Amino acid sequence: MEALLEVKDLKKHFAVSNNVPFKKSTQSVKAVDGVNFKVYSGETLGVVGESGCGKSTMARLVNQLIKPTGGVVNFNNENLIEMDSDTLRGTRKKIQMIFQDPYASLDPRIKVGELIEEPLVIHKVGDKESRRKRVEELLEVVGLNKRFADRYPHEFSGGQRQRINIARALTLNPELVICDEPVSALDVSVQAQVINLLKKLQEEFNLTYIFISHDLNVVRYMCDRIAVMYLGKIVEVGNYEEIYSNPQHPYTKALFSAIPKESPFENKERIIVKGTVPSPLNPPSGCSFHERCPVAIDICKTTEPKVVTTDNQHQASCHLVN
Ligand code: SF4
Ligand code: MG
Repeated sequence: MEALLEVKDLKKHFAVSNNVPFKKSTQSVKAVDGVNFKVYSGETLGVVGESGCGKSTMARLVNQLIKPTGGVVNFNNENLIEMDSDTLRGTRKKIQMIFQDPYASLDPRIKVGELIEEPLVIHKVGDKESRRKRVEELLEVVGLNKRFADRYPHEFSGGQRQRINIARALTLNPELVICDEPVSALDVSVQAQVINLLKKLQEEFNLTYIFISHDLNVVRYMCDRIAVMYLGKIVEVGNYEEIYSNPQHPYTKALFSAIPKESPFENKERIIVKGTVPSPLNPPSGCSFHERCPVAIDICKTTEPKVVTTDNQHQASCHLVN
């Protein structure tokens, strides 16, 4: 199968200065450090990991909201990183984002209809009348009343505002939608509605999703495959059910062991990972998980593990996986 998106060795290193007088030095934070993955048309790839592991930075690198330090982002076999700005503008229509905070992402002074219309105006699509029709159609597609177009964002609940954001993301008929924690700011009762809407829209418009979340239950419901991130790297990737039932990387094992058991007969022990995520400013040598890993061996301190492919396109980076 041909991948819609293929990311190779993607990196974002930020330079930071310590600002100590007479001892100024610059170090780099490796927020995303050599990430590889593919996303196939029509599927949902979940991206999981603790906060600060680089999930959101990676999302913004994929659609070029921030410029990578290096790597390749092939979308429909074309590398976005090498595109001139005109071509990139055209291609980016096909990649949209939905952000976590439905409150912050809508300008309170602009009517909902204009917010949804804005991408059409920017890309000079249609006239005033056809754009208005499209806005009303999109409001109904996301389960809102078309008359809401003339109201302001503050008149809506969190769930409704996230629906408005989704409508706005769909305006230009994207192929890939990157959802960055799209329900984590919402009440639990509303989360399921928004998740179900995203699923329905995926079928209706043949959308491909990258779905970033720290909630493994939501991810299980939404995703076909998942990528597990730790300190700017993907440590394991594969089919969700395969990873759920047969996790390979010790970090993935710990993450999944925190999900409550499905039945009292399930043989699953909670694995506690010691300490906190180290600073990406001075990541540990060797395997960056070694200081916290319950099964680390000597080589883990000095040598970075290679990516090992086990069955079914399942990959993990750990010296103990072979
Ligand atoms: Fe643990 Fe070593 Fe595997 Fe890293 S490479 S996850 S430290 S066993
Ligand atoms: Mg984030």
